[in-house]
Amino acid sequence: MVRNLFSAKVRKAAAKLVLSMIGLAALQGCENVQTTQAGAVGITRKQSMSVVVSREQIDQQAAAAYSQLRQEASQKRTLNTDPALLARVQGIANRLIPQVKVYRPDAVHWKWEVNIFQSNEVNAFCMAGGKIAVYTGLIQQLKITDDELAAVMGHEIAHALREHVREQQTRQQTAGLFTAGAVIGAAVLGYKIDPDVANTTTQLVYSLPHSREAEVEADNIGLELAARAGYNPKAAMTLWQKMGALSGGRPPVFLSTHPSPESRAADLARMSQVVQPLYEAALKNQPKR
Ligand SMILES: [Zn+2]
Repeated sequence: MVRNLFSAKVRKAAAKLVLSMIGLAALQGCENVQTTQAGAVGITRKQSMSVVVSREQIDQQAAAAYSQLRQEASQKRTLNTDPALLARVQGIANRLIPQVKVYRPDAVHWKWEVNIFQSNEVNAFCMAGGKIAVYTGLIQQLKITDDELAAVMGHEIAHALREHVREQQTRQQTAGLFTAGAVIGAAVLGYKIDPDVANTTTQLVYSLPHSREAEVEADNIGLELAARAGYNPKAAMTLWQKMGALSGGRPPVFLSTHPSPESRAADLARMSQVVQPLYEAALKNQPKR
């Protein structure tokens, strides 16, 4: 028995050394990056990102999962293809997407996709690389206005721009709790995805509960994207109020991944003032809706 050759003290020291080497390896696999420019709302936080899991990899995996989600929804006839609704949601996306250049010019060239899924869930997400999903439950249960829908979509697009999922995976990886490829692989390959159970997948990989700082960033960037696209930034406040009021029954899925602390309303009120001039400028430059 090899371990009997060494004293407990030596074994303990060796274990410590191995652990610190693992820690070092994890740290060396990260780089500090600024995924976006600051924008008018001033996002300057540097993020620690794994170099082991590249953005390209995450984008590819997200694209594959999104494609499967859409395909299965299509087979089950839960892909909403109502022309009027599609025109409405895609129309909002088409005005928001060009605004992303303020934060990261490369994102203008992402392969953006927008689909509407038939489901009672109050939910929406934007996967890495610009794959947007809006659930009919969000539109119907909140009786959502275009300005509010722009706020939700802007917020979700912001998470993708800031690569918050990759950042969170990096954190978990660094903590030694996460094998990114395995979990993503399981989500892509192992789960039967349809809009009703997609929640499991989206929570696992794409809508992991975000940190408070990620939420504030998404709120602020979302406000700016919406304002620049000519949507009233104050709608973000009514949106979260409506979302909160819904929680009477089953809390909206959206809230389970988006902690909604009380300070959010105050933050949104303050920041909507900052982007108000951008909104007014956009209104002048755009045809009346
Ligand atoms: Zn969020």
